[in-house]
Amino acid sequence: MKPVGPIPAGYEAIGGELAIGGKRASALVAEAGRTPLFVYSRAHLDARVAQLRTALPKRVGINYAVKANPHLGVIGHMAPLVDGFDIASSGELGLCVAVGIDPARISFAGPGKRDDELEAAIATGVTLNCESAGEAARALAIGQRIGKAPRIAIRVNPSFELKGSGMKMGGGAKPFGVDADKVPDLARHVIAEGSEWRGLHIFTGSQALSADAIIEAQANVLELAANITEDIGHGCPKLNMGGGFGIPYFPGDAPVDLARVGAALGKRVANLPQALADSELCVELGRYLVGEAGVYLTRVIDRKESHGTIYLVTDGGLHHQLAASGNFGTVVRRNYPSAIASHYGAEPTEEVNIVGCLCTPLDRLADAAAMPRAEVGDLVAVFCAGAYGASASPSAFLGHGPAAEILV
Ligand SMILES: *Cc1c(COP(=O)(O)O)cnc(C)c1O
Repeated sequence: MKPVGPIPAGYEAIGGELAIGGKRASALVAEAGRTPLFVYSRAHLDARVAQLRTALPKRVGINYAVKANPHLGVIGHMAPLVDGFDIASSGELGLCVAVGIDPARISFAGPGKRDDELEAAIATGVTLNCESAGEAARALAIGQRIGKAPRIAIRVNPSFELKGSGMKMGGGAKPFGVDADKVPDLARHVIAEGSEWRGLHIFTGSQALSADAIIEAQANVLELAANITEDIGHGCPKLNMGGGFGIPYFPGDAPVDLARVGAALGKRVANLPQALADSELCVELGRYLVGEAGVYLTRVIDRKESHGTIYLVTDGGLHHQLAASGNFGTVVRRNYPSAIASHYGAEPTEEVNIVGCLCTPLDRLADAAAMPRAEVGDLVAVFCAGAYGASASPSAFLGHGPAAEILV
């Protein structure tokens, strides 16, 4: 038997079935018209933002990193809840504009921004988090050509990283950001060339569960931003401090101690270095905001036994849930939180392997998991599906097509 990850708070049974947003899984599938289906819960999104507002100092804004879940309904729901939006492509810009988000609230990071993407951002007034001197030069030239001063922040490649981070994006040679020692010269250059100086972006990593690691990274970010700002000599209108708050996916994972992170940040913010005294501050969060708000529902289409092992074969799989299958940046495959949605809360009676419908042994949703007995037609739920699910999985692989998505 292998354990499954911890099921996030706020999911209950109604009539023996998993309910999301007060609706039974079977009713949600009927509403969507098919499985597989991602269900995103407004109540969970609201609750998570409220927890952050309570824990973090008032001075620190919350940005949503759209790449975690670019579903239009989710972006639209987040629009009045958070302060800013971080995008990583002109496609994501289009989605934000489509739901009516003011481009002045948007910043655009990511290496390899094309000229047409830079132009779209400059024309609409989005802040560019410039990733290199070359990109800054292209942005300045495009601004000249279209007669609009680009709003420029510089993404810093710091020399430290967020410890215990699932995905390292700072420290040493990186495609992301400008090496910290080169930032002041570049900043003075873009300011002298007439851009609107927007400040610094320092992202140190992702999926950290340790409050200590987050607290240490935030302290380092504030110190580095202050030093760079002093060196530039122009103030820092806005400091995007990065995020990296993780969510528990696997057995033994514990949630981030948000109260402790917020208290430590509160102390720092109350005693900011002079260089940052007037700076607007924000964190940028993706999975922490939306990950636990999503559930993936997939139907059992076959139940079979092979050499004594029971397989529940579902109509979903890694083409929607690459991360849950263990093929998105993990070294050792472990079980995501999962359950038989049709018998939610029932005692486990057997050990099963839950697999997807793709013709590859990589397509596994739960290995050797203890579950109540499920038959053909029953629904399986995979939790923590609100981030890096639908949009971060190879939905064209094997031709089954994308999953349905609804917001409840
Ligand atoms: C991916 C990314 C995020 C979001 O990361 P999460 O782990 O989902 O919080 C935030 N900022 C930047 C720059 C990113 O690349």
